[in-house]
Amino acid sequence: MSRRLPEPFRIKVVEPIRMTTRSHREEALRRAGLNLFSLSSDDVYIDLLTDSGTGALSDRQWGGLVTGDEAYAGSRSFHRLRDTISRLLGFPLTIPTHQGRAAENILFPELVAHRGSPSPVFISNFHFETTKAHVELTGARAVNTLTPDALDTGTYHPWKGNFDLPALTSAIEQHGAANVAGVIATITCNTSGGQPMSVANLREVSSHCRSRGIPVILDIARFAENAWFVKHREEEFKDSPMSHIVAETMACGDIAVASAKKDGLANIGGFCAFREDAELYRRAQQRCLLTEGFITYGGLAGRDMEALAIGLEEAIDPDYLTHRIGQVAYLGERLRAAGIPIQHPTGGHAVFVDAGAMLPHLAYDQFPGHALACALYLEAGVRSVEIGSLLLGRAPDTGVQEKAPLELLRLTIPRRAYTNDHMDYVADALIEVAAGASTISGIRFDYEPPVMRNFTGRYRWV
Ligand SMILES: *Cc1c(COP(=O)(O)O)cnc(C)c1O
Repeated sequence: MSRRLPEPFRIKVVEPIRMTTRSHREEALRRAGLNLFSLSSDDVYIDLLTDSGTGALSDRQWGGLVTGDEAYAGSRSFHRLRDTISRLLGFPLTIPTHQGRAAENILFPELVAHRGSPSPVFISNFHFETTKAHVELTGARAVNTLTPDALDTGTYHPWKGNFDLPALTSAIEQHGAANVAGVIATITCNTSGGQPMSVANLREVSSHCRSRGIPVILDIARFAENAWFVKHREEEFKDSPMSHIVAETMACGDIAVASAKKDGLANIGGFCAFREDAELYRRAQQRCLLTEGFITYGGLAGRDMEALAIGLEEAIDPDYLTHRIGQVAYLGERLRAAGIPIQHPTGGHAVFVDAGAMLPHLAYDQFPGHALACALYLEAGVRSVEIGSLLLGRAPDTGVQEKAPLELLRLTIPRRAYTNDHMDYVADALIEVAAGASTISGIRFDYEPPVMRNFTGRYRWV
């Protein structure tokens, strides 16, 4: 029998968390308009809202915060970041940004302008929500061609983040290669459950696009978690060091956009990285100057770039990754053992609970994932988030509420912040909520904002 290894770190700084009473949480949620984004974090006991910027820094990163160079131009910390990205990821040219969406904002309009098509389109395995929003902001359409395996939550499939290759090729044909401003590979695929993409699939996507002159953009927020899955599931890479897998992954892309708040192990940051000093790179730099800041800091403090450069290296440490992915799997297994339906197998950063299956009495426009998130908060002070029709929103042309393929509740695990005891607490709480699932009401809007409505909307129980 192999012994389960504990967290591969010991804790040097602690932050107290406090349990609240049920009546306190009822009042807090009412004041928040049933929107968990509107809660004060002091009213949350265990916060699984997101893994974005919520992880713990290492002692080396804290050291980097002190040694970071705050020069306006030519910061030593920028050079360290650029050189780390070049060495680990193989993109020699980096433009730092304050977070991932800012990298999208300086790149996408230039990709569209570069293409010069009157009806541009981006194709992805699945556009992350800010990615979709930034694509649409340029006037382009966002088309998803995710493998149908991802929709079969109960069945094990190793690559639920893959592109459906026939769907990709027919989408390119349908829109015409000249209108495709970019193909975006989201690695891992957040929307399907932090699910990995195989290098084999990515290579096919890449060679197909390159043969048609379409740029391949890698959205690499969770590249390290993806590389871990590749090592453990893809025969070719079973003996490869992480650095080799990362290099082979990156070789498939022409440009990378990254939120550093995930596998950068940073609390803030992002970047856009290029292979060559060509027009697109220089145009993106111009946009960075206008909206982010000078090209060697892009909206970040020097110390943030220093912590990020260190974080990128720590993120591909196999001990760290084995614990990270093992912790997510641990929570998933506890829930599955209790009969709670989840996306199986679990992905890199979160457990996705199939709220549609748990609350079959609620229609998609009563937002079962969100209703379940509210019930879990009231029960135990655990904050989670809906990934379903509420997040998807309305069709841009008709204004009709769209129906998501899956109604999910995401339990997102911050990096290096919680122990498996916390995971046990969360599992016990959700198992209790599941026992009373049939009594959970649906949710509807009281106030519905026009864009990214899930962040600032207000709701009531039906
Ligand atoms: C978080 C994320 C983004 C956006 O990054 P921010 O840092 O939140 O602006 C883009 N793509 C993916 C896959 C992400 O996970």
